[in-house]
Amino acid sequence: MSALDGLPTLRDVIEQHDLVAKKSMGQNFLLDLNLTAKIARQAGDLSQCDVLEIGPGPGGLTRGLLAEGARKVLAVEKDRRVMGALAEIAAHYPNRLEVINADALTLNPLERLTPPVRVVSNLPYNIGTELLVRWLTPKEWPPYWTSLTLMFQKEVAERIVAQPGSKKYGRLAILSQWRATPHIVMELPPEAFSPPPKVHSAVVHFEALAAPRFDADPQVLERIVAAGFNQRRKMLRASLKGVGADIQDRLVAAGIKPTDRAEQVPIEGWCALAREVAKG
Ligand code: SAM
Repeated sequence: MSALDGLPTLRDVIEQHDLVAKKSMGQNFLLDLNLTAKIARQAGDLSQCDVLEIGPGPGGLTRGLLAEGARKVLAVEKDRRVMGALAEIAAHYPNRLEVINADALTLNPLERLTPPVRVVSNLPYNIGTELLVRWLTPKEWPPYWTSLTLMFQKEVAERIVAQPGSKKYGRLAILSQWRATPHIVMELPPEAFSPPPKVHSAVVHFEALAAPRFDADPQVLERIVAAGFNQRRKMLRASLKGVGADIQDRLVAAGIKPTDRAEQVPIEGWCALAREVAKG
């Protein structure tokens, strides 16, 4: 049977290529092409953009992106078994799909992409936050991408958009909201995937800000935020002791009460502290 785009249905593709999902690869596939087209639309107008997709698997989202008019899709997939299925999609959309069989954690995709670049991905859960933090913490800003449209476990998506004072507020919220505008744009139940994961999922769309909201060195910010939230129930003067002997003075200079806890400090405060700590 053929699907909306004239290619075989994803169920047939999976059967023909014997693509039994592997848990070790974080494989939970989307099989509904209406749904993948809807996710692709959350990324905005793709017609003038190159799209970077991590983990295309059998190609459900890839097909959504191409059907929605992406100028080019660069798909990076670690599992060699899906290469045949992806080659069929590439043949159906000449010159618009490039597939690389590589680990997204080690590949630098930049030389194969022409700006503007949007990243759209149903991320493997085991490397999702690691990739997100890398996209958010390059030394220079703005980054090579203009937007990220990413599927996460719902609990991770909620941490990304959390506000100060919330138990979910932490490293992901601060790094995400410091340099971008994350919004949850879709929620998906486990049954949307094959096999269904244990938890609900959500798509988060981020537009990169032209400049970070507040000045700070990304590495210093990441380090102090990680230390502060690692012991989130302690007062900052205790949880940040490892950052430097004079941390109490630095907190005061940044306008933060040393007796506050990490989750009480807004992004502006963390950036002020990063600038104090960077003074050396
Ligand atoms: N995009 C497909 C979809 O929506 O149906 C598959 C999504 S599945 C959640 C994650 C995909 O990422 C799998 O195809 C898996 O093989 C791939 N993957 C896992 N680790 C990877 C890595 N380090 N680099 C690139 N791809 C990876």
